[in-house]
Amino acid sequence: MNEDRKTLEQRAQMTDLERLRHSASHVMATAILKIWPEAQFAAGPPVENGFYYDVDLPHRISPEDFEKIEAEMKKEIKANHPFEKMEVSRDEALDLGKKGRLAGLSDRKEPSKFKIDIIENIPPDEKISLYRNGDFIDLCAGPHVMRTGNIGAFKLTSVASAYYKGDENNPQLQRLYGTAFKTRKELDEYFAMLEEAKKRDHRKLGREMEIFVFDDDVGPGLPMFLPRGAAIAEELEKLAKETEFAAGYVRVRTPHIARESLYKKSGHLPYYAESMIPPKELRETADSTGQELNDSTRYYLKAMNCPHHHKIFAALHPSYRDLPLRLAEYGTDYRYEKSGELFGLMRVRSLQMNDAHLYMTPEQFESEFNAVNEMYLNYFKLFGIEKYLMRFSTHDPSKLGQKFLNEPELWKQTEEMTRNVLKNSGIDYVEVPNEAAFYGPKVDVQVWSVIGREFSIATNQVDFGQPRNLNLRYKDKDNTEKIPICIHRAPLGTHERFIGFLIEHYAGNFPLWLSPEQVRILTIGDDAKLVDYSMSILKELRAHQVRAEIDKSTDQINGKIQRAEQLKVHTMFVIGKRDMDVGAVSVRVHGKGNLGAKPRAEAIGEILLSIKERRP
Ligand SMILES: [Zn+2]
Ligand SMILES: [Zn+2]
Repeated sequence: MNEDRKTLEQRAQMTDLERLRHSASHVMATAILKIWPEAQFAAGPPVENGFYYDVDLPHRISPEDFEKIEAEMKKEIKANHPFEKMEVSRDEALDLGKKGRLAGLSDRKEPSKFKIDIIENIPPDEKISLYRNGDFIDLCAGPHVMRTGNIGAFKLTSVASAYYKGDENNPQLQRLYGTAFKTRKELDEYFAMLEEAKKRDHRKLGREMEIFVFDDDVGPGLPMFLPRGAAIAEELEKLAKETEFAAGYVRVRTPHIARESLYKKSGHLPYYAESMIPPKELRETADSTGQELNDSTRYYLKAMNCPHHHKIFAALHPSYRDLPLRLAEYGTDYRYEKSGELFGLMRVRSLQMNDAHLYMTPEQFESEFNAVNEMYLNYFKLFGIEKYLMRFSTHDPSKLGQKFLNEPELWKQTEEMTRNVLKNSGIDYVEVPNEAAFYGPKVDVQVWSVIGREFSIATNQVDFGQPRNLNLRYKDKDNTEKIPICIHRAPLGTHERFIGFLIEHYAGNFPLWLSPEQVRILTIGDDAKLVDYSMSILKELRAHQVRAEIDKSTDQINGKIQRAEQLKVHTMFVIGKRDMDVGAVSVRVHGKGNLGAKPRAEAIGEILLSIKERRP
């Protein structure tokens, strides 16, 4: 089967934009044939952000050809040909293929070899349809827009090579990519967003702003936060700790490793084994009470904090009066991601997670789940995240016992419960089948940065599996032992991904409270009294926990300002003799320029207030 061939069901679900983009691929093929009539086409699906068509052609298409192809496409769009559907028998389709008529403008000497192959792989019970626009006839199941004129604005973007059906034993084809939108305005906005995204790329800014680094001796996917990055991480932890404390969470601390038996009991093994770093065998000569023994056990680096937290829950022997119990930890986890899949801070092997596990009775579920959602929304407001989407992932009953715990009743109950809470809370959400965690339904949160880049940063999961597997119990009012429901939640995701997101979201221009360097003092000249005055200001700022530095170089003031601006230092106190004489500082804010002189106490007071209130 063709790797790109969509099922009829998937095709029926194509969005308007995907239809438009797929239609544009027919128009692109038409244009290529006008220039190179011998071109042979394979598959031309819509893809994320655009479309492509695979073509076999002796001429190597290069970006210099794009203008020529686009000009032909424009003619085809201007002609406003309808996309006409024709249903044909298998024999009729094969016949046209032999005459080179499929994905062609007329009969040709060479048969339409790829189209013939595709026809031969279409299931016998599936109808075969052709689509025609102008002279171009293609084998296609659709759907398309009504007419070529409906393709509002398009652009060819790149050309790559690809094997037919993705198999390297097959011929290599040229894959020509383009994108299309309903309007010119949307197309322009898309390219402007790409441009801006390039400038904001967290890997580029992360290096320039000295936020994080990778080292070959440490290993791929294992980022180290430099002092400036650690400052951001510490601020985020402070925020999380304050927020969670106010919401009644308590903090715990757990080791980074655990025995294999823990993950077997929790149910992570074998389901999750492939995502864990392979275990290490350790010889044991004593058990946890000091009793002599001769044994060896496999230890895993933890990939998640839940099993440790569950053990803490068990150790506390809670009764219903102790619930809900909310255990929080910024846990460090390790996951095995293939090296080819690692990407900056977004896909890594070590992660520090804003984790917590909430244990509750069924009656407490609604208010706990709502409180968690509220916490998410408050964070979004704080960070100026205006666009977000909650994806409610449910199980697929046909995969019970494989991908999902074999507990059909519990799946039904918890999914029902979660769906009701989401509905009652009025939060926008979409339901996605077959994407639940193996132990219960979950809500993933996708957010969009100010420039429209999408990130999946947070999850909120309902767990009925692990508390059962680990035999967690609380004593209820009637003195019976009951299994708690558990919610896993991580609104700030991991430091790695969230900081990567924030760098791009803010383009490195962090608000004062989050800025790696909040204030830098720049003196004009090196007069001893001036240096003393500047040092006393530095001391005062640091005494108030402000991340302040002083530029000790002997450079001219313009050079000092330039360096601070490059590092995107939030506020600069420029201090000259005139400032000193009246006990003032000249305030300069990154991106805003000179704000003029202010009395020292006032300038410092404003800094402290802005940090305290976490102003945007
Ligand atoms: Zn088509
Ligand atoms: Zn968890």
